[in-house]
Amino acid sequence: MAGCIFCRIVSGEIPATILYSDEQFVAFADAAPQAPTHILVVPRVHVETLLDLDEKSGSLVVIASLQAVARAALPAGTGFKLVVNNGADAGQSVPHLHFHILAGRPFAWPPG
Ligand code: AMP
Repeated sequence: MAGCIFCRIVSGEIPATILYSDEQFVAFADAAPQAPTHILVVPRVHVETLLDLDEKSGSLVVIASLQAVARAALPAGTGFKLVVNNGADAGQSVPHLHFHILAGRPFAWPPG
C-alpha cells in the first residue's frame, strides 16, 4: 500500500535487516529494539490488523512462519515473547499487521 513503511520494506524500497522471508511473510530487525533480539514478522500483503488476515493473506501459515523465524534467529531452547499490538488501543503504531518476537532479556507480566 502506498505510504506504508512496512510495504516499502517488503518491496525492498527502503532498507531493513531482513532475517527471513517466504512466500507470504518477511521478518526484519526492529529499528528501535526493545530487547537484545527484536524481530518483526509481517505479511507481504498489506492487512492492517490480525482480524484482517485471511486465508489468502496467510492466516493458515502464520504459525509456521513464526516458528521458522524463531528457529532461525534464536539458539535452541531460548525463550521468547511473541506480541501483536492489535489496533490503536493496544499501542499499534504502524497500521500493517506485524508480530514482534522479543528475546534476550527477562520479561514481566502483565504487559504495560
Ligand atoms: P507497533 O507499536 O506494535 O505498531 O510496532 C511498530 C514497530 O515498528 C516499532 O517497534 C518500531 O520500532 C518499528 N519500526 C518502525 N519503523 C521501522 C523501520 N523502518 N524498520 C524497522 N522497524 C521499524
